[in-house]
Amino acid sequence: APSAVSRPTMAMERSYIMIKPDGVQRGLVGKIITRFEERGYKLAGLKLKQADEALLKKHYKDLVDKPFFPKLLAYMISGPVVCMAWEGKDVVAMGRKMLGETNPLASAPGTIRGDFCLEVWRNICHGSDSVENADKEIALWFGEAEVVDHESAMQDWIYE
Ligand code: UDP
Ligand code: MG
Repeated sequence: APSAVSRPTMAMERSYIMIKPDGVQRGLVGKIITRFEERGYKLAGLKLKQADEALLKKHYKDLVDKPFFPKLLAYMISGPVVCMAWEGKDVVAMGRKMLGETNPLASAPGTIRGDFCLEVWRNICHGSDSVENADKEIALWFGEAEVVDHESAMQDWIYE
């Protein structure tokens, strides 16, 4: 195995990636997790959760005043979601690229939305849009003990 000396010492960022109720109901959980695993990202938190209005109002605090917010709320509480914290190099920006555009029809094939969905109201996944928001979202959706610092056995094969 590569020497432990090559292990990066810099703190890696994390992104909050969430599979929305339609993604869970359509059985896409495994496929979405696989994409992040295969890219080389490390899972730091994972759970299934039924969200409620109070939590979603905090999560989407920038959208609560929009006319479409009630519809967004109804969509997001229509079933359980899968909450994930993924860790690794540039994972926030790369997570957004892997998800695709908000409107699935504008998403390139090869992205999650571009491969698995057609409608903006059924766009199956969420990804943090900045490192700052990622930290806030992970703290909002997970308890402290639910996000786990650990070393991946593959780290030295993924990072220089
Ligand atoms: N949304 C929508 N229509 C809109 C704007 C937002 O359906 O015109 C929904 C959609 O599910 C989207 C979520 O609200 O994913 C949050 O909106 P945002 O602009 O943050 O998009 P995202 O960051 O998820 O791509
Ligand atoms: Mg957003």
